Amino acid sequence: MPATPSPYPAEALVSPLRTLSAEWVLLPDGWHQRMEIRFDTDGVIHDVAPATGSPDEDLLVPGMINGHSHVFQLDLIGRNQRFQHPGDDFWSWRTGMYALASTLTPTTQEDVAYRAFRAMLAHGYTTVCEFHYTHGATRRDNGEMPVLMSEAVLRAAERAGIRIRLLPVLYQQGGFGERPLTREQRSFGLDTQVYLGLMDHLRHEVPLSSLQTLGYAPHSLRAVGLDALRDLVDHRNETAADAPIHMHISEQVREVNEAVLGLGRRPVEWLIDTFDLDASWCLVHATHMSPAERSALAASGAVVCLCPTTEADLGDGYFSLLDWLAHRGTWAIGTDSNGSVNPAEEIRLLDWHQRLHTRRRNAFQFDSSLGAGTRLFQQALAGGRQAASLPVGRIEPGAFADVIALHRTPRHADMAADDILNAWLYSANPSWIRQVYTEGQPRLTPTP
Ligand SMILES: [Zn+2]
Repeated sequence: MPATPSPYPAEALVSPLRTLSAEWVLLPDGWHQRMEIRFDTDGVIHDVAPATGSPDEDLLVPGMINGHSHVFQLDLIGRNQRFQHPGDDFWSWRTGMYALASTLTPTTQEDVAYRAFRAMLAHGYTTVCEFHYTHGATRRDNGEMPVLMSEAVLRAAERAGIRIRLLPVLYQQGGFGERPLTREQRSFGLDTQVYLGLMDHLRHEVPLSSLQTLGYAPHSLRAVGLDALRDLVDHRNETAADAPIHMHISEQVREVNEAVLGLGRRPVEWLIDTFDLDASWCLVHATHMSPAERSALAASGAVVCLCPTTEADLGDGYFSLLDWLAHRGTWAIGTDSNGSVNPAEEIRLLDWHQRLHTRRRNAFQFDSSLGAGTRLFQQALAGGRQAASLPVGRIEPGAFADVIALHRTPRHADMAADDILNAWLYSANPSWIRQVYTEGQPRLTPTP
């Protein structure tokens, strides 16, 4: 009896690898023409090789990592721009944020998180580090509330198709000197043992998908005292040594001044003197550092996460990226308050700050083989990879196939691939994005 011919090519039965190809692909060493990414059923890149046949996409670049987000703040947009008094700043903005946070339930948390994650994907973020402090801890009718609120965020991320490093936050003080939590802050507050129990529960009892991982987030030095911070770091070292630690720091001049009064040192200085900082630490903002703090922090290997649109909106001040790069510091970008969920806008504003400051177009003096936007994009990918502590941000074997497909319209047919990437970054217009993939799966509209 003759054998029935297989309907599948022999290699498809031997290897379940899937492919994604493009006319131009941005690899770690620059642009390569006509390349194919082959990845396994888990969405991990097996190899990158010259493409055969006509390519699927015009350009493929790594998906961006959002190093810092509070999803619920998406719904603050437009509600807090009216003049209230001459001293409006971060601290008065915070009052409106507290009012919104107090209304959240697991259902509304999942809803706003889903909308934020979908918007992030549509603009090119494929991974998000969600700094999650809306635990609903004052809803004493339900002791499970912190678990339910974390699960709501995880569920929203899974439905959206975005990769997430969920960072449940430890928040215990209303300010330096063990000031008690204010009434509005109480829903964020967890005892240290409750917090560590939440981390254990999420790790062991909640089935995390292949897109989901956990990390630690002491909110800030003003919200977490020394003993609790030590307990958190010990727990992480003993139970989850590959998990990153994220913390807000030195966002505000007032915060720095209060640290000097309360701790006797500036925040970054105190942290470096007290803990062994290394590449697993991600310090968010770090806007107001002294030259000595900047030098010591860069040398520690920690990454800073910059959130230029939020820092601009709140009037925080701007980060001196030129000085940071002079110390070989690494940096990521984050959406923070989610007024913007667009990585191109963060990178553009970061560059424009430096241009306005130096009064030069090429503030960074990069070599001219690639556009300034490409260089900054690559640096943000490297820092984001470190902040997330995940194999993302590079198109290479072993990394996740989390990529953005950019397209060139007939009107831009004469433009080089690098110019297309810079067109997206300096226009901040998401219409340059044709598709976004995580684990090699299209997450926007179905591919044709
Ligand atoms: Zn933040």
